[in-house]
Amino acid sequence: MTKFVYMFNEGNGKKKELLGGKGANLAEMTKIGLPVPYGFTVTTEACHDYYKIGKAISVDIEFQILEALSSLEEATDKTLGDPLNPLLVSVRSGAVHSMPGMMDTVLNLGMNDETVEGLAELTLNPRFAYDSYRRFIQMFSDVVLKIDSFYFEQCVEEMRAAKGYQSDPEMTAADWQEIIIRYKEIVKKHAKRLFPQDPKEQLFLAISAVFDSWHNQRAIVYRRLNQIPENLGTAVTIQSMVFGNMGPDSGTGVAFTRNPATGEAKLYGEYLINAQGEDVVAGIRTPQPIATLQKEMPDVYEQFAHTCELLEKHYRDMQDIEFTVERGSLYILQTRTGKRTAEAAIRIAVELVEEGMITKEEALLRVDPDQLNQLLHRRIDDTSDKQQLAKGLPASPGAATGLVVFDADVAERLANDHQSVILVRPETTPDDIHGMIASQATVTSRGGMTSHAAVVARGMGKACICGCDSLTIDLIQKQFKVGETVVREGDIITVDGSTGEIFLGEIAMIEPKLSEEFRQLLLWADEKRTLGVRANADNPTDAKKAMEFGAEGIGLCRTEHMFMDATRIPIVQEMIMAETFDERSIALSKLLPMQQEDFEGIFEVMNGNPVTIRLLDPPLHEFLPDKEELLIDITKLRMKDGDSEELKEKEQLLRKVRQLHEFNPMLGHRGCRLGMIFPEIYVMQVKAIFHAIARSMEKDIPVKPEIMIPLVGHVNELKHMRQLVVDAELEVMEETGQVVDYVIGTMVEVPRAALTADEIAEEADFFSFGTNDLTQTTFGYSRDDAEGKFLQAYIETKVLPNNPFATLDVDGVGKLIETGVKLGRNTKPNLKTGICGEHGGEKKSIQFCHEVGLDYVSCSPYRVPLARLAAAQATIRAGQKETKQPQTQC
Ligand code: PEP
Ligand code: MG
Repeated sequence: MTKFVYMFNEGNGKKKELLGGKGANLAEMTKIGLPVPYGFTVTTEACHDYYKIGKAISVDIEFQILEALSSLEEATDKTLGDPLNPLLVSVRSGAVHSMPGMMDTVLNLGMNDETVEGLAELTLNPRFAYDSYRRFIQMFSDVVLKIDSFYFEQCVEEMRAAKGYQSDPEMTAADWQEIIIRYKEIVKKHAKRLFPQDPKEQLFLAISAVFDSWHNQRAIVYRRLNQIPENLGTAVTIQSMVFGNMGPDSGTGVAFTRNPATGEAKLYGEYLINAQGEDVVAGIRTPQPIATLQKEMPDVYEQFAHTCELLEKHYRDMQDIEFTVERGSLYILQTRTGKRTAEAAIRIAVELVEEGMITKEEALLRVDPDQLNQLLHRRIDDTSDKQQLAKGLPASPGAATGLVVFDADVAERLANDHQSVILVRPETTPDDIHGMIASQATVTSRGGMTSHAAVVARGMGKACICGCDSLTIDLIQKQFKVGETVVREGDIITVDGSTGEIFLGEIAMIEPKLSEEFRQLLLWADEKRTLGVRANADNPTDAKKAMEFGAEGIGLCRTEHMFMDATRIPIVQEMIMAETFDERSIALSKLLPMQQEDFEGIFEVMNGNPVTIRLLDPPLHEFLPDKEELLIDITKLRMKDGDSEELKEKEQLLRKVRQLHEFNPMLGHRGCRLGMIFPEIYVMQVKAIFHAIARSMEKDIPVKPEIMIPLVGHVNELKHMRQLVVDAELEVMEETGQVVDYVIGTMVEVPRAALTADEIAEEADFFSFGTNDLTQTTFGYSRDDAEGKFLQAYIETKVLPNNPFATLDVDGVGKLIETGVKLGRNTKPNLKTGICGEHGGEKKSIQFCHEVGLDYVSCSPYRVPLARLAAAQATIRAGQKETKQPQTQC
C-alpha cells in the first residue's frame, strides 16, 4: 500500500519531492530535536491522486489521514473537536520549490461553537478564544468556501466604528462574540450553507482546498515566472497550533540568519507581540526589529539565536525561520533556505566559503546568474538635485523612475504600452503579482521587510520600498499624499530601493560598482570555467565596459553601427546613391579614415585581446530614410515649390529606396551578399582595419584581429570573400610595411552553413554561430516580427516551451550548432568556435554551448559577469574540470 501520510518523526529533509519543502524541513527539524509543534504531512503523491480521481480524496488516503490524526491527538494529549481539551491545527501547502504566499493556508482549524468555549476556559482568556474562532471562520471561508474576505473585514470595520475603537486590540471578548454571529450570517448568505461545525469535515475540506490552490491564478503566474514545473503538485502539512496571540508574553515572527538584502552575517528579522503569523507576513501591522526581542524576552531571544545558528550550520545556508512564542515558550514553525537579493546571495556564498561551511563550487552554484542583473542596475546619482518626498524600508535594492499607478491591472496595461510604471499600494497581496512583474518598482505604505511585497520583489530583483507610512494612499481618488504634497496617478516619481527613499520627478542615475565579494566569486568562476567569455562591442566605450566586467575579447564588432553615426549617414547615403563604381569609391574613401579611427580606438582598449570584426551585414535600405516619410516630405515640397533642389534630392532618394526595396529584406541582399556584389565596400572596411592595425603596431599596441564574414551559406561565398580580404591586406601591407598576424572566419547563421560546415571550414579559421539569424532561418520566423505577432501566444499555449530568440532552441537550432561544430572539426580539428547571438548571454544557452564544446560565448558587456558565472556552473555541473587547464586563447 502506498504511504501517503508521514508523521514529522517519520520523514527527513531529503524527502522534499514527497513531503514538499515545508514538510521535509519540519521533519528534519523534529529529527534534530528542535521545538517543533507535532504534526504530519500528506504527500505530493496524494495530491496527484487527488487530481487523478477527479479532485477527491480517496478512501485509502482518508484512512491514512485519520490514523495520523489519532497519533497527533495522542502526542499532544488533545482531541480534535473535544470541547474540554480541543486540538487545533494549521493546514498549510508545501510545494517542492518555495512559493511564498502563492497557495492557501488555514489556521485554527478545529474551532467550532463548542471548542471555542473549551478554549476560553482552558486558557482563561475568552477574548483570545473568540478572536481565534472569528479568524478561523474568516480564513476558512476565504480559502475553502470562496467568500471574499472583504465582507468580513467590512464587518469588523463597522463594529470598530460603532464602538469608536482605533484598532483591533481594543475589541473585547463580547465584541468578538458578536462578530462571530455576524460572520456566520455572512457565510450563510454567500456560501448558501451553515459554517461547518464538524472538525473532521473542516479538515478534509481544507486539505482539498490546499490541493486546489496549486492551480490558482497567482500560483500559476509565480510558477511561470520562476520556471517551476506545473506537474509537481503540493503536499499538505497538518500541524498542531501554537498561539502567538495569547497575551504580552506571546508573539510571532520571521527571521533570517543573515540579512537577506545585504548578506551581512547578523540575525535579521521582525516580530509582533500578541499576534498570529499571518499578521507579520500579510504586512497588516508594521513589526518590531528582532533586536528588540533581546530586551523584551531575553531568554527566548537567547534560545532563538542559538537555534538559528544551529539551523544555519545544519543546512549550510542562510535560513528563513518562522517562530512563535506561546506564553514564554519558543516554537519553530518553519525553516527554509532564505530568499535573498543578488548582493546578499554573493556575500553569503563567499563568506560561507571563508567560514569553511561550503566549497567554492557550492558557492558558485548558489548564485543564480540571472540575479547578477540586479547588481548591474543603475542607482541614483547622489550628486544630483533631489528632494526626498518620503522614506520607507529599503526592501529590495535598485532604483527606478516611472509613472505612479495604484492598481496591478493598470500597471500591466501601461507596461504593455512600453511605459515605465511604479506600483504604489497600501500593501500587496499575491493577487498583485502581475502588476509587480509589469512595474519597475513597488512601494507599499504598510508592512515590513518580510511582507509579501518585499519577499516577491527581492525574488524578482526589482526595487521595492515597504512600510512607507508617511504615504496616505487613496485608492478611490487614485492619489497619495505626503503632508501637503499630492501625487496623482500618472505623475512621475523616482524610488531607491536600497535606501527606501522616494523622490518627485525623474532623477539622474549612475552606473553600478561591484563589491569585493562579487569580484571574488567571479574570480572563482574564472578558475572553474573552460568556456571563454567575450563581449559584443562596437565602440571603445562598450569595449572598456566589457573589459571591466571581465571579457577576454570582442566576439562581435558590428561595423554597421559605425555607419549609423549622424555625421556619417550622409556619406553612407552618398555611397549608396552612387550610380558608378568611381562615384562609390569617392564616398568610400571618405568613410575609410572614419572607420580606421574607430578600429584604432577599439584596439587600444582591447590591448592585444582578440577582436572579431564583422564586415557590413544589414541590407543597404536600412541606411536610407523610410519610404512613407519620404513620400510625405515630397508631397509637402511639391506644394511649396515644384522645382527646388531639396525636392529633386528627395525624389532621387525615393527612387533608390524603391530600387532597393525587397519583399523579405532579412533574406535578401545583406551579409556577404553585399560584399559579393559591391566588393569595394568590403575592401574599404578591410583596408580601414589593416591601416588601424598598422597604426596601433606603430604605437606598440598589441593587436589580435579576426575578420568575420556574415551570412555565408555556400563555401564559394567564403572563398571569394577570403580572397578579397587577403588581397586588400596585401595592398595595405605594401603601403605600411607592417606584417600582420590575422585570421579569417565566418558566421554560421543559415542552416546550409551548418549542414555544409565541413566544406566551409576549408576556408574558415573560425566559426561564430549567429544564433539570432540562425533561429530566424531555422524556424522561418522573422526575428523582427514574430515576438509581436504570434510568439507570445505560442508560449502561452505551450506550442513552444519558451521564446527561441531568448533561450536557445536546443532541439532544432542546437542540433544545427552541434552538426556545425562536428563537421567543422572533422575538417579542422582545432577549429575555433563561438557564439555571438543574444543566446551567448543566457544561462541555459551557455550551458548548451559548454556541452557542445564551443570555445567561447560572446554577449553584451553587461551580461559578461552572468556568462562567466553560467560558464563556471556548466563546468561544475558537467563534473569536468577540477582545476583550471592552461587557458586556450578564446
Ligand atoms: C546573429 O545573427 O546572431 C548576429 C549576432 O548577428 P546580427 O544580430 O547582427 O544579425
Ligand atoms: Mg546575424
